[in-house]
Amino acid sequence: MTARAGIGYDSHRLEAGRRLVLGGVEIPGAELGLAGHSDADALTHAVIDALLGAAGLGDIGARYPDTDERWRDADSIELLRDVVAAVAAAGWRVGNVDATVVCEAPKLGPHRAAMVATLAAGLGVGEGVVNVKFTTNERMGPIGRGEGIAALATATLVAA
Ligand code: MG
Repeated sequence: MTARAGIGYDSHRLEAGRRLVLGGVEIPGAELGLAGHSDADALTHAVIDALLGAAGLGDIGARYPDTDERWRDADSIELLRDVVAAVAAAGWRVGNVDATVVCEAPKLGPHRAAMVATLAAGLGVGEGVVNVKFTTNERMGPIGRGEGIAALATATLVAA
């Protein structure tokens, strides 16, 4: 097999007193941030799980357990770099990554370019093979009520 695909999904609750970090970019002025053991960057976590899935290397929870103090407040872009290294060691390089963030507020569009640039740097690929999309949940359900943010991602790997 010369190419493989993987999917990833993640969500985190929004809470006061936390930073809002998505795709490695801290959103300035956000009233609420994502709660979690690491920096709770749901977008980067979804990308990580897509890569791990494509490479057949399990999932983020098994690799970086939230019971391990090493990963407290971890910079998820650093975890992404670690995963890309593991994927490369398994004989794969990243083909492309596509992701969707489901978020009612704040508006994320102004930060898209920075997220793409930061994720591409973490992935070690050009920005042209990283795509980040935003949508709301049309005010339906917990995401729609602004209780949290979810992200989905796909990744393809090609034989290195
Ligand atoms: Mg997560």
